Amino acid sequence: MLINEPLIFEIGSEGRSAYSLPDTDVPETDIKDILPEGMLREDISGFPEVSEADVVRHFTRLSRLNYNVDHGFYPLGSCTMKYNPRINEDVARLPGFSMIHPYQPPEISQGILKLMYELELYLAEISGMDRISLQPAAGAQGELAGMLMIRAYHTLRDDPRKKVILPDSSHGTNPASVSLCGYRAIEIKSDKRGLIDPKKLRQIMDEDVAALMLTNPNTLGLFEKDILEITGIVHDKGGIVYCDGANLNALLGIARLGDMGIDVLHFNLHKTFSTPHGGGGPGAGPIGIKDVLSDFLPVPVIKKEGDSYQLNYNVLHSIGKVKAFYGNIGVLIKAYAYIRTMGADGLRRVSEVAVINANYIRNRLQDFYDIPYNSHCMHECVLSDKIQGKHGITALDIAKSLIDYGFHPPTIYFPLIVKGAMMIEPTETETKETLDRFIEAMIDIAMRAEDDPESLRHAPSTTKVGRLDEVRAARKPNLRWRV
Ligand SMILES: *Cc1c(COP(=O)(O)O)cnc(C)c1O
Repeated sequence: MLINEPLIFEIGSEGRSAYSLPDTDVPETDIKDILPEGMLREDISGFPEVSEADVVRHFTRLSRLNYNVDHGFYPLGSCTMKYNPRINEDVARLPGFSMIHPYQPPEISQGILKLMYELELYLAEISGMDRISLQPAAGAQGELAGMLMIRAYHTLRDDPRKKVILPDSSHGTNPASVSLCGYRAIEIKSDKRGLIDPKKLRQIMDEDVAALMLTNPNTLGLFEKDILEITGIVHDKGGIVYCDGANLNALLGIARLGDMGIDVLHFNLHKTFSTPHGGGGPGAGPIGIKDVLSDFLPVPVIKKEGDSYQLNYNVLHSIGKVKAFYGNIGVLIKAYAYIRTMGADGLRRVSEVAVINANYIRNRLQDFYDIPYNSHCMHECVLSDKIQGKHGITALDIAKSLIDYGFHPPTIYFPLIVKGAMMIEPTETETKETLDRFIEAMIDIAMRAEDDPESLRHAPSTTKVGRLDEVRAARKPNLRWRV
C-alpha cells in the first residue's frame, strides 16, 4: 500500500479541534492568576489544529506502514518475535495494577508484591536458579547487573580478575556488558560443530578469568552439548558462568540452565514471556542467580513474612539499584499472566513447537540454501547466502526481497561467524500454512537468484521507499516524511 501521508502539522486548519464542550457555566479564572509567569506562553505556533477523525486516521495510516507481529510472520532470529495473547495486555491494564503508584507503601501494595514474589518463584522454577531479581529493564541491563554481581563477588574475595571469556558467536550486548564492567573480553572460537570446544576452553581458562559468558542454545540455534563439562572447567578455576537466557524459548519445561552449572542468567520477558518486542517499548530482563551470588542482588528484594510481602533493602553486598523502583511492572504482570495461563505443560509445548517449527524450515530449505552448521537445531536456524552469492545475490538482497512477498526479513549478518548469515526464528505461534508460504517464498527467491538475479537487486518494490542507505539513515536521520 503506497500512501503519501503528510505530517500532522500539515493537515487541518485554524480553529479546528478534536473535541467540543458545552459552554462553561462556572465563573472563569484567568490562567495567569493560577500559573506562574514562566510557565505560560502566549501562543503555540504551528500547533496542529485537526479534527478527531483527522487524528485517528493519520496515526492509523502511519501504523499501517509498520510491519508487526499482528500484521504477519516476523522470523527475526534471536528476537523471538512471537504473537502474544491479548488477554495478558488486558490483565496488565486492570485498574488495580495500572493505578498503583510506586511510592505507595507496601501495606497497600500487597497484590502487586505478591504477584512479583510469585513471578520470581516461577522464573526460579523454570530456570533452575535459586533467586531472581525482576529489576533490570532489558536483557542488556540484566547482563550488566549480572556482570556487576560477578565483579562484586570476586572483589569481595580479594581476587579481582581481569578477563571474561565469550564465544565468537555471542550477541553484541555480551562483550559490551563485559567491557562496561572493566573486564577484558577474551574470545573463544567456535569449533566445527558451531559449539564451544571444551579442550580449547581448558587451554584459555585460568585464574584471571572472572567468568565465562555463553548463550545456550547459542546464537546458531545449537545446544551446547558439552555444557556440563564446560561449566565444570570454569568452576574448577574459581570462575562464574553467566548464561545469556535470551534463547529460553527453546528450553521451557524441557531443560533448566540452573541444572547445567549456570550461576547467573537473564531472562528476556519481552521475548519469551508475552510482551510484544520491538519498537523500543518497555521490556524486562530479570536475572536469576545461584545462592553464591545472593548477597549481591540489586535492592530492594521482595520478602515474604507470614502472609505479608515486604520490600527489603538490606542485602549485605548489594550492587545497589539498577532501575528506578522495581522494574517495568506492566511487563512483569504480562509474564505472570502468561505463565499462569500456559501452565507447566503449556510452557513445555511452547518450546517443543518452536523447535519443531525451526527444524521444519531448516529441513525444507537445505536443498536451496547453504546451512553451515547443519544439524538438528533448537528454536532457530542459520542459513547463509553462499549459493546465491555465486550469482551476486547477498543476504541483504534476499532479506529485502522477502518484503515483497509480505514477510518481515529474518535477522541478517548475525551471528558474525557465518558469512552472509540469515537467522530464522519461526517461534511456536505460527501455523504450518504460514511456514509453508514463507518457505515457498524463500525457494522462489533462490530460483530467481539463479534465473534472474537482477530482479532481486532492487527489492523491495512494494513499499513506500525501496533500498535505504541504512548507514546514512542511522547517522543522519531525516525525520520528515517527504524526502
Ligand atoms: C535480545 C538479545 C539480547 C539483548 O536483550 P535486550 O532485551 O534487547 O537488551 C542479548 N542476547 C541475545 C542472544 C539476544 O537475542
